Amino acid sequence: MKVRFEKDMTMTGEEYRASLRDGRRVFHNGQLVDDVTTHPRFRVGVDSIAKGYDDSAPNCAGESEALYSFPRSVDDLRQRMALLSGWEVTRATTLESLLALQTVGEQMAVSEPQYHQRIADYVAFCRRTDRRCVQTITDAKGDRSKSPSEQDDPDAYLRVIEEDERGIVIQGAKLHISGAAIAHELVVIPTKRMKVGEEQWAVSCAVPVNSPGITILNTNPAPDERDFEYHPVSRRFGIPDGLVVFDHVFVPHDRVFLCGEVAFSASFAHALGLWQRIGGVARMADEADVLVGLAQLLAEANGLTSMHHIRDKIADIVIYAAMIRACLEAAIAAAETTEAGFVIPNEVYTNVAKYYGSAELGAMLRNIHDIGGGAILTAPLPGDLQNPETRALVDKYMRTTTDVSGIYRTKLFYSVRDLTADTYGGWWQVSSLMSGGGLHAQKLVARKNYDMARAKQQALIFIGEEEGRAT
Ligand SMILES: Cc1cc2nc3c(=O)[nH]c(=O)nc-3n(C[C@H](O)[C@H](O)[C@H](O)COP(=O)(O)OP(=O)(O)OC[C@H]3O[C@@H](n4cnc5c(N)ncnc54)[C@H](O)[C@@H]3O)c2cc1C
Repeated sequence: MKVRFEKDMTMTGEEYRASLRDGRRVFHNGQLVDDVTTHPRFRVGVDSIAKGYDDSAPNCAGESEALYSFPRSVDDLRQRMALLSGWEVTRATTLESLLALQTVGEQMAVSEPQYHQRIADYVAFCRRTDRRCVQTITDAKGDRSKSPSEQDDPDAYLRVIEEDERGIVIQGAKLHISGAAIAHELVVIPTKRMKVGEEQWAVSCAVPVNSPGITILNTNPAPDERDFEYHPVSRRFGIPDGLVVFDHVFVPHDRVFLCGEVAFSASFAHALGLWQRIGGVARMADEADVLVGLAQLLAEANGLTSMHHIRDKIADIVIYAAMIRACLEAAIAAAETTEAGFVIPNEVYTNVAKYYGSAELGAMLRNIHDIGGGAILTAPLPGDLQNPETRALVDKYMRTTTDVSGIYRTKLFYSVRDLTADTYGGWWQVSSLMSGGGLHAQKLVARKNYDMARAKQQALIFIGEEEGRAT
């Protein structure tokens, strides 16, 4: 693959903000947003991405290498996952999207060399201009029991409606796209395998967010800035999710990576699923460590550390955290190297870890809530900490031991509530479950890639029938 890297250009946070004033059509709650960089509902997300740009500036070349190149060794993959976990959301989605494109690009190198080269050129463009890309895969999907060609409305899945010598025109919508309104590029990928006869829906391409015909309707788990003190977690991590409408959007051929070749449609979804899930597992491993720490802090703040059932609940979370970390490490250690030298995480461990982490998160939060008690929801409000009269009451009645002030304990409850039991907490739980597809998707991939032949052979040996069933 010929990747033409030119001199890396990294943006500053301010340049990133300026780049968003590009005529993009973004709505919040029915209102057209004039400028996402100043709108209170988008401020948290914009600030976190701007900070990501500023933080990476001192190490421009290294950051650029980590973000826009493919891991070439197991250690490289491990380092990349460690970095990704600490990145703001759109840096992670950029890495995962571009890794997915390059994974499929390599598979298409012989039979579809034009796509292979366009993907390489696109990755170089993103690197050169320091773009932030979002994963644009989930279609509206209409009736889930029907395929794209069986839907009442053919736009239920994004499709190509025109094609000429200059490019293609696409129509449809992609739902729940994290960061779409405040990123630069929509990396569009088919949501699933398309059958022969469904060529118009087998489309992958890259579309700038401000392209004519793109409209984004947003939801947002981030708080309003007046509520920042009460939302110490979501004020740092909240990011908008967008329903992205494509209304007759023109895409030039050099940004089209699949157009009708149904045989490759599943490869895109599969590759993005793998990179999304390993990225999700890397984040989950760190989040699980935070959950252990929060459980212990709550137990200490409540004076409960010697209670048997509390220690048992914390041990459950320790096991959860250690299992996810172990599976992450197994997925990295058992990575495979492709002919082009790309290092790709192990499918089985990646999917098992994503499944386990998502499926058990609710039980871990139940433990946290049980250890913390009702003040997770009812701890007095930040204004009560400002007024000397009420602050004294908070300090007197929210304290527990001589080491634990009422003010500290109240603020600890704010973080636990925000992370696990409020708007952002709900967002986090559903997005952990659904990102990279729901639980069923991870089970399917884990079972498909598990070495069933070996398992059967082991079982035959175990029952003394190693010659097989025919003898
Ligand atoms: C907060 C959040 C952020 C997200 N960010 C992104 C993003 O950045 N980019 C992106 O592309 N997507 C994103 N997603 C979408 C996510 O990948 C999807 O939610 C997930 O793939 C499930 O799709 P769905 O929500 O349409 O649910 P559905 O597909 O409707 O699934 C609901 C249930 O129905 C089952 N089901 C559906 N169809 C079938 C079928 N044919 N046969 C059997 N069972 C079926 C599913 O297994 C599941 O149990 C995000 C989702 C959330 C919640």
